[in-house]
Amino acid sequence: MKDSGFFKCPGSDPSAWAKPEIFLCPDCKSEVDIWTDEKKGRCPFCKTIFERPIKTADKPYYDALLKKAFELGASFVGMIPVLDIVVDDHLSGLCEHHQCSNYGSSAGCPPYVSGSDGFRRLMGAYQEALVINIELPMEIMLSHQRREIFRLLHGIVSSVEQNAVKMGYSNARGFASGGCKQLFCSDYQECRVTTKKGDCRNPDLARPSMSGYGIDVVKLLQRAGCTSECARDEKDNKISGGMACGLVMIC
Ligand code: SF4
Repeated sequence: MKDSGFFKCPGSDPSAWAKPEIFLCPDCKSEVDIWTDEKKGRCPFCKTIFERPIKTADKPYYDALLKKAFELGASFVGMIPVLDIVVDDHLSGLCEHHQCSNYGSSAGCPPYVSGSDGFRRLMGAYQEALVINIELPMEIMLSHQRREIFRLLHGIVSSVEQNAVKMGYSNARGFASGGCKQLFCSDYQECRVTTKKGDCRNPDLARPSMSGYGIDVVKLLQRAGCTSECARDEKDNKISGGMACGLVMIC
């Protein structure tokens, strides 16, 4: 029968189907699914009901956050559309299969983070991301000073994230390379969050590791316009210099 164009079932067009997007609960910061046809979300953990955050294409935050990151010690800051972030299942799988010493050590590392699938879903709720890098000579990368640099990175990322929140971007969310157990809680036997013994000891510093989400850090730096040694080798994706990279997603 010829399609008249008038009697189409409204459910026959998959592009019109509602889909879930992830937002952060304004109270407890847990991930909350809000479907694209819903105006409000309800946190399954603390039960807070909140309005769906409005996405904005404006960038009034950019200069202030960029300045903040440089003041605190970043050597590169760039902005990219969130859709340009490359997420690779293979990279998140390396945490487990290569038995990274950080695996299972904290709430910021696998298996306690939602991995590459979770990150792809999270990307749907954001528009832009600040990419932050601290470039460091390989000899420092391989020395005991490495820990201090990665602690600094987490501090910069969390501070930029919190500045974005103060500017009204309440769902700003930061990620940083390096496992937080090793960086901040090495004097303790356990992560307090994963053992359900309390809240994070370092909420103003520690942020989830980017590796556990499968974020391709070299491509991230390249796409953000970083021309330093560590992001140079496009061909085989080799890291030829030291780097400590972070990301703050903003919507
Ligand atoms: S308590 Fe320590 S190990 Fe656990 S999430 Fe916080 S900083 Fe990381």
